[in-house]
Amino acid sequence: MKKHNFSAGPGILPREVIEQASVAVQNYNNTGLSILEISHRSKEFVAVMEQARQLALELTGLEGKGYRALFMHGGASLQFVMVAQNLLERKAAYINTGTWASKAIQEARFFGEVLEVASSKDQDFTYIPKEFEIPTGISYLHCTSNNTIYGTQFKKFPESSAPLVCDMSSDIFSRDIDYSQFDLIYAGAQKNMGPAGTTLVLVKESVLGKVSRAIPNYMNYRQHIEKESMFNTPSVFAVYCSMLTLEWIKARGGVSEIEKENSKKASLLYKAIDSNNLFVSNITNIEDRSMMNVTFRLQDDSHKEMFEKLVAQAGINGLNGHRSVGGYRASIYNALPFESVQLLVDTMQQLKNKV
Ligand code: PMP
Repeated sequence: MKKHNFSAGPGILPREVIEQASVAVQNYNNTGLSILEISHRSKEFVAVMEQARQLALELTGLEGKGYRALFMHGGASLQFVMVAQNLLERKAAYINTGTWASKAIQEARFFGEVLEVASSKDQDFTYIPKEFEIPTGISYLHCTSNNTIYGTQFKKFPESSAPLVCDMSSDIFSRDIDYSQFDLIYAGAQKNMGPAGTTLVLVKESVLGKVSRAIPNYMNYRQHIEKESMFNTPSVFAVYCSMLTLEWIKARGGVSEIEKENSKKASLLYKAIDSNNLFVSNITNIEDRSMMNVTFRLQDDSHKEMFEKLVAQAGINGLNGHRSVGGYRASIYNALPFESVQLLVDTMQQLKNKV
């Protein structure tokens, strides 16, 4: 039986993508070869890479606006380093909204002065800071659009005259925002785009080439742009699956349609949490709640065993909160069907009926 997958990442992929990918593992496009054994320089794979890069720009509305799409290795974690190495001249500003933002800050410190201009650490990262000053003389301002661990999400981004950089690992392609407000966006594939093993970077070319340090080739965005995202052997299968997911998003009407579905799923779940007195949301500021990672806990831990038994019986997977937070986290990414959220809500109600 296929489980209802609420895992935070690697997370659920569309069923159609998994079916297409499994056919391609046997025989890719009737080439008589598996996608796992074709050359990354073959015309078949070059076409996949081009289609994936093109769709990433098209779905974010960045086509023709001076941006390049790259599929890279090393996860979002390598981007914590590359962003600073390629863009930070003297100082940069960071908004600290959680563990991932803190890690980005740590890496950036290797390259210059890092100003933590706002932080929600004082309240265990349960809100999005809003009132803060953005200093002048910075190379860029960095934010994390969705905080996967805590369940908070920026709904409106800071207005900055400096370039804006965003870690969008857990909510890229989930909502119709103005992606062109960012000069560089990065996102690990394994939440809303594909399997683990590739990372998307959308970079405005005009933001590059402004630092005085020498950058090793592999770490240099310019090199990856020139080599059309084939500086070295890319993660062929992960890029292929990402392409399939991007095609799936497009076929559903693009990110604006996906956003409508995501919003229905999130409202259903938050309503269920707020109206069931056995549960409490981790995020009390309603406007800061994530549409992707819904974090909540039981009011009374004595119900834990019974709830978790019901969850397991329902075939629900991946509901545990991050080990640093505890409680529960329902990751309701693009590919998670509405019916799975309904099932979780029904399971919460079942608990209420029992106690
Ligand atoms: N940023 C965010 C917002 C994340 O959720 C994650 C992964 N959970 C990361 C960065 C780190 O990603 P990776 O494992 O791809 O380096």
